[in-house]
Amino acid sequence: MTCAIGLFCENCGAETPESRFRLKCASCGGSLDVKYDLESMKNKLSESFFQSGSGSVLKQWLDVLPINNPELIDKIYLGEVETPLICSSSLGKELGIENLYYKMEFTGPTLSLKDRATSLCALKALELGYDTLCIPSSGNNAASVAAYASKAGLNAVVFIQKDVSPAKVLKIIAYGARVVRVDGDISMASNVCSEMLEKHRWFNCGGSNPYRFAAKRTVAYEIIRRLGGLVPDAVVFPVGGATGMASAYTGFVEMRTMGMIPSLPRMIGVQLEACDPITRAFDEGSEVIQPVTIKPSISDALKNTSPFQGKQVLKAARETNGMFVSVSDEEFIRTIRLLATKEGLFVEPAGAVSVAGISKLLAQGRLKDVKTVVCMLTGHGLNSPQAAIDTEAIPAVIEPEVSAVESYLKI
Ligand SMILES: *Cc1c(COP(=O)(O)O)cnc(C)c1O
Ligand SMILES: [Zn+2]
Repeated sequence: MTCAIGLFCENCGAETPESRFRLKCASCGGSLDVKYDLESMKNKLSESFFQSGSGSVLKQWLDVLPINNPELIDKIYLGEVETPLICSSSLGKELGIENLYYKMEFTGPTLSLKDRATSLCALKALELGYDTLCIPSSGNNAASVAAYASKAGLNAVVFIQKDVSPAKVLKIIAYGARVVRVDGDISMASNVCSEMLEKHRWFNCGGSNPYRFAAKRTVAYEIIRRLGGLVPDAVVFPVGGATGMASAYTGFVEMRTMGMIPSLPRMIGVQLEACDPITRAFDEGSEVIQPVTIKPSISDALKNTSPFQGKQVLKAARETNGMFVSVSDEEFIRTIRLLATKEGLFVEPAGAVSVAGISKLLAQGRLKDVKTVVCMLTGHGLNSPQAAIDTEAIPAVIEPEVSAVESYLKI
């Protein structure tokens, strides 16, 4: 059924049986990772890969995911399907990129990329007999976990950072989760969540959950399938905890190992200037990521001072001739407006940084000769609508009369 072999420690190699699932290796405390039998995965994919998929992401990618009870998928299904990969109409040309694609990860059931992976976490919680999901989050992950818990009939306890957009808080509350708003940033929310786990048998769906990582690999498979096997010159990610970029990289590496693609795309990570520990390490040529002090920013996502997968994405960028760059609030706000007015796409700040980052790299001449680029658009604009909208621009009220309308529109 599944090509997953089991959960192994990245540090000492010890195996943890799924039935005794935990987030860390019992012998050494290292992170756990799902290992796959790529030979049998290759055989399975060779029959089905280019068949256009529809329906649940988990069903479509059953061959590449660690799922034991596919009959449970319907119990957690909220409409998480393959996200569209659409072609830019004008921005790409203005930037000089022949084929600029947007991977519309913000079209998930709770309007962010988080749903792709929360769906598998909720499924594993059912398989393994948990009754409560928990997560530390800057907002989107909490909403996603809250929604899937409702669907699956599980409880949700979410730990959110103090500074989270009001729209995200409302969304989380609507799904009925228990919300703990922590007086601190995402690392503090994460610490208290981990301490709670020592006393309560909850299923933590956070970035260190190997199933979250496993599910996010599918975005790489979708991109290659949709491009008919063509490897884009570059793929651009917004980077906070770095799970998204690290897991997509793993997906591309697997496909190359299986001989499905001849090379890897350049992996480009974009951070906020307000919190960019990975960009700094990249620029300094360092392998060590030093925590930074978070500066103010209107983006609530991506403010992660100690990114869980930081080392992996540094390596991914370096090994693929990729890079890291950071963007200011001004730069991503301009990009949100450009994407909305020129492309018809309304995204939240973290969702715009990939495009802001690639624009900056091209303007600085650091990136040349890229013909096909995929930018990840990760969160919907309605998750923090106040970010890009000038309140003065709210229209005045006009008499419902043709003459009044014409004089207002100056036509
Ligand atoms: C969580 C999130 C990200 C960052 O993903 P990481 O895997 O933590 O790097 C990017 N954009 C949005 C909108 C998010 O919610
Ligand atoms: Zn270990």
